[in-house]
Amino acid sequence: MPYASSPIFTQKTAFRRAIMKWYAEQARDLSWRGTLDPYSVWVSEIVLQQTRVDQGTPYIERFIKKFPTVQSLAKAQEDSVLKLWEGLGYYSRARNLHKAAKHVAFERNGEFPSSAVEWETLPGVGRYTAGAISSIAYGEAAPVVDGNVKRVLARLLDCHDNIDTPATTNAIWDWMTLLVKGKHPGNFNQSMMELGSNICTPKKLKCDLCPVQRFCLAFVNNTQNELPVRTPKKKIPHHQIVVAAIKKNGRYLLGKRPPEGMLGGLWEFPGGKVEAKESNEDALHREINEELGLTIEIIENIGKVDHAYSHFKITLHIYICKQLSGTPSPKAHSELKWVSPKHFEQYAFPKANHKFLSKLS
Ligand code: SF4
Repeated sequence: MPYASSPIFTQKTAFRRAIMKWYAEQARDLSWRGTLDPYSVWVSEIVLQQTRVDQGTPYIERFIKKFPTVQSLAKAQEDSVLKLWEGLGYYSRARNLHKAAKHVAFERNGEFPSSAVEWETLPGVGRYTAGAISSIAYGEAAPVVDGNVKRVLARLLDCHDNIDTPATTNAIWDWMTLLVKGKHPGNFNQSMMELGSNICTPKKLKCDLCPVQRFCLAFVNNTQNELPVRTPKKKIPHHQIVVAAIKKNGRYLLGKRPPEGMLGGLWEFPGGKVEAKESNEDALHREINEELGLTIEIIENIGKVDHAYSHFKITLHIYICKQLSGTPSPKAHSELKWVSPKHFEQYAFPKANHKFLSKLS
């Protein structure tokens, strides 16, 4: 194996001891982290898949308070699950968690999978999440690999291979499989991720405070700032979106997005992307006709809001509109509803919609 003579492998026990001692001394006090209950570990791992710990912690706490058991989550309406997830993004996580909870509660009689391989069969649970749950909740020697682990290992091994390629990613899984074998695999996995998020960070890394500096080949060779090698990021596209707040008798027309796909199951104001060389107004008339089969009159532009997703950015231009002809029919949504602003809080909206809700009365 390449890198077999690296200190983290030749002195594996000492390396594990050093990083886990540091982890035990400084681990942040997170209420859900002390638990070995598979359900709580599962929920927290799903929330933290794409979310920072400080942002995700209140969501985890609220979620477990409202749905304390897999049975309570399985029995919930999808709308109430999505409402609790509102603002976190990547809503397929919530839908898959809900689907998987139903599977565990109703088809497995509430019995959780007992190994990482079995966890991976549940919707929304990939190899990383399965390894995290099994190592933390059951003490199984299952590895985890995320962006933090990749960066830390590339530096510890002074590995100059591109960590974004499948071949290097597979090699990193193999290295973690070797390293995780030992006592307290869950703590070992968490210590590697914590080192990456607090010490061995992408920039301004704190080698002076690093508990495993003596095992680190990048530190010896002074290459830590060149690592990891990554594929350059593509420029993020920026889309202009027009949104119609169609008002009738004090209520606005909302559409529920189809269950699959981005923001699936959330409620929104109809509208869509402005095409090249199209005016905002023309785009709005076209979109509303395509999505709802309606002709509208645009009354007023009430402003714009910017929002960033992971792979693109949007500017929403919001227009108050009036229905002229046609009957709204859900061509792009699973359901339509006329809703008074005082009831908006009962619906789960994408974060970008929240930025202008207060302007609608
Ligand atoms: Fe990362 Fe520096 Fe520690 Fe090496 S010594 S693992 S580069 S923080």
